[in-house]
Amino acid sequence: MSKKAYLETAQDATKAVNIGIDTDTVHGAVMPPIYLSSNYTFEGFGQKRTYDYARSGNPTRAVIAEVLTRLEHGAGAVMTSSGLAALDLLWQELPNNRVVVPHDCYGGTQRLLNARTRQGLIEVDYVDQGDEAAIAAALSKPAGLLLLETPSNPLMRLIDLQKLIKLGHAAGARVAVDNTFLSPALQNPISFGADYAVHSTTKYINGHSDVVGGAIVTKDAEEAVRLNWWANALGCTPSAFDSYLTLRGVRTLLVRVRQQQESAQKIAEYLEGHPAVASINYPGLKSHPQHELAKAQQKGFGGMMSFELKGGIEAVKRVLDVVDLFSLAESLGGIESLIVHPASMTHAAMSPEAQATAGISGGLLRLSIGLEDVEDLIAALERALKVA
Ligand code: PLP
Repeated sequence: MSKKAYLETAQDATKAVNIGIDTDTVHGAVMPPIYLSSNYTFEGFGQKRTYDYARSGNPTRAVIAEVLTRLEHGAGAVMTSSGLAALDLLWQELPNNRVVVPHDCYGGTQRLLNARTRQGLIEVDYVDQGDEAAIAAALSKPAGLLLLETPSNPLMRLIDLQKLIKLGHAAGARVAVDNTFLSPALQNPISFGADYAVHSTTKYINGHSDVVGGAIVTKDAEEAVRLNWWANALGCTPSAFDSYLTLRGVRTLLVRVRQQQESAQKIAEYLEGHPAVASINYPGLKSHPQHELAKAQQKGFGGMMSFELKGGIEAVKRVLDVVDLFSLAESLGGIESLIVHPASMTHAAMSPEAQATAGISGGLLRLSIGLEDVEDLIAALERALKVA
């Protein structure tokens, strides 16, 4: 069987590692070479090669797009210079300019949506995506796009993808799922009928906290062509070098995530029994209200969690003053463990009222579990929580 044919049916870890490997016909390089050139010659008059200008296309970018397309079980992909640039492509030329989004979606997504609303490009309805009646009411009027995030950030609330995708389609909307938190290693929205799986590749897909990037994988091949047209027109495509680093990162996505979630499970169980912790949000715990849904629609529980300290914001300040090993930094999904105070960091752009509505309190902390030894991570939390 040829390698290309074999990869059609291979497991995801094999696809992640092998797509694009050993395809160089010039020198036989095992790793796909990187072409930093911004432009490509024409073979002659009117004879364009595959690539002409790097804003519109680049060989390394094409390989990472193919890897993500296969991992998300889609038909095509567009790569972008950030996750927000990917999201901003979604509302170009909607059949209807009404966009329905979760009220607790990523803060940067809200800032962008609000700015595009002020410009008159779209009209936004924020809904509690956990409230089926509210979603049904929002979708009782025609909509152009339903954007979903599951699990939500930072409270790790899940939504039933199959059910909501059906509701979105019934309202005439295209349905996009921001799959950044789980990555294609653990959830494939297109398999549940979504039109788009959107990623900040900055997070798990690159996984080494050294590139900002984004992607949309589409269910329909024509949609990928249309979105690539827009990405070229807007100029929001990623550089060859960022594509190269992201491709290098995605090669190990499945093994990284497997290890991160194994550690996350142990850490969540440790925190659940800690006297300073009021509540913990991790879908891998039996106590999580949507543990069964997580088992049904996810391939694992992931490396993200949040927990509330009994001592509120004052305890948070004391803990963050002394915590070691976990870096106090935004972002997630990298090899290094991170701790975040959502109310003052990742979700600071939300008004206090919006934070309260979304359930983001001053005592809440979010963890992104990295690849350090889990016993060291638990020991670091033990030291820090002594002052909580
Ligand atoms: N979507 C989610 C869920 C995110 O967490 C982020 C960034 O934190 C984004 C989108 C935006 O991605 P980027 O920072 O790559 O623009």
